[in-house]
Amino acid sequence: MLLLISSMLRWIKRSPLKAISLILSAILLSLLIQMPAVDAVNWENSFNSGVYHFAVGNFKAAILSDGLLNLPPLPTYAPAADPEEVEQAMVERFWSPDELSLYFNALYVDTGTHQVLIDTGAGTELGAGLAKLTQNLHSAGIRPQDIDIVVITHAHPDHIGGIVAPDGQLTFPNAEYYISAAEWQFWMAETVDLSPLKIPDQFQQGMKSAAQKHLGAIANQIYQFQPDQEIVPGITAIAAPGHTPGQSALRITSEASQLIVAADVFFNEAFDLEHPDWQTGFDLNPQQAAQTRRRLLNQIAGDRTMVIAYHMPFPALGYVRSWGDRYEWEPVLWQFDP
Ligand SMILES: [Zn+2]
Repeated sequence: MLLLISSMLRWIKRSPLKAISLILSAILLSLLIQMPAVDAVNWENSFNSGVYHFAVGNFKAAILSDGLLNLPPLPTYAPAADPEEVEQAMVERFWSPDELSLYFNALYVDTGTHQVLIDTGAGTELGAGLAKLTQNLHSAGIRPQDIDIVVITHAHPDHIGGIVAPDGQLTFPNAEYYISAAEWQFWMAETVDLSPLKIPDQFQQGMKSAAQKHLGAIANQIYQFQPDQEIVPGITAIAAPGHTPGQSALRITSEASQLIVAADVFFNEAFDLEHPDWQTGFDLNPQQAAQTRRRLLNQIAGDRTMVIAYHMPFPALGYVRSWGDRYEWEPVLWQFDP
């Protein structure tokens, strides 16, 4: 052994460059041998996780996508608009003029005391492209049974359809549910009049039966709140009527940070931010919805508050600038550390 070492040292002294390159090659070869094998990407079953972690002061928060729905833009989205202007607005953004993408984004907030979910996604109420919330909760390491508060901004199927799972059980079995008193009373009344909506009768019937099914299932765990009421410490209701009679936006406050949950006060940058006068066919009372939209947007833009807007492209977090009588959306910059 000693003989081998001393002859190696003599060789290194004679040809140092050769020796160094040989040693480096040996190290590289041993590293390659130790590297774990990487499976080939399975494109058939791969998907992008829709989870975005961030913070609001001391609160830990995450946006959880429930998927997206592509729908023809007219007549539903912009019933008061000139169809040519709608097409032009979409083409300018490189979108197909035949399909508008409506994203669904639920918000999770861990306040330290409560694990809160705001809206539950569509479940299977609106087709197979959705119902990704459960999968994304799993990706985020959030267990449905740990959610102790669910806040419902309003009772349209894309916000409440995840309450009852396809097996008939509650998706969030240990949660208390909060909804505004005005919203609960509207949907649980004997007659629910959706006739002002500019959507087909079949969709109107679907909305009513979804409300009966999902709200009915939590009738014993529901708490009704009033405008400006603090639902849990740090989360306060803001009345946002028009889209539905009792829609509620929310203000989330921790330390010096604030986040506004805009619910469906606005849907889309190209439509109701840039053209607030185009209306949306999903608003039960378009005039009241337009007033609510302007009031909240002016407040968000004036205070420069971060906002989560349920139907904006994932992660649906951003800021709003006012520009004359129009508005612009500024998405947050992606952060790798929440
Ligand atoms: Zn919605």
